[in-house]
Amino acid sequence: MGLVVVLFFFGLAGGIAGRVKGSSFVLWFRISACVPFIGLLAALCYRWDNQELRRQCPGCGRVLKLHDAVCVRCGTELEFPEVAIASEMSVRERAAAG
Ligand SMILES: [Zn+2]
Repeated sequence: MGLVVVLFFFGLAGGIAGRVKGSSFVLWFRISACVPFIGLLAALCYRWDNQELRRQCPGCGRVLKLHDAVCVRCGTELEFPEVAIASEMSVRERAAAG
């Protein structure tokens, strides 16, 4: 019984860590509850998705992460862009600032 409680809290911690970083709470809750320690560690090390710079695909216009080499929608090979789109986080901060 104690183990279930421990796993639950690991799941909770991992879920919150994942959510804060712009990922799915449920996804990281499950990962952390199934593989405690490792899952929680993975959630904490997970890159900050909403802080990454973005770019737009010249082929289909889809907004992708700056480091993506190939468009996930149309398969266009992408060169490193001269202009990057501001990250979701900085856009939100600017909007909040006024
Ligand atoms: Zn595309």
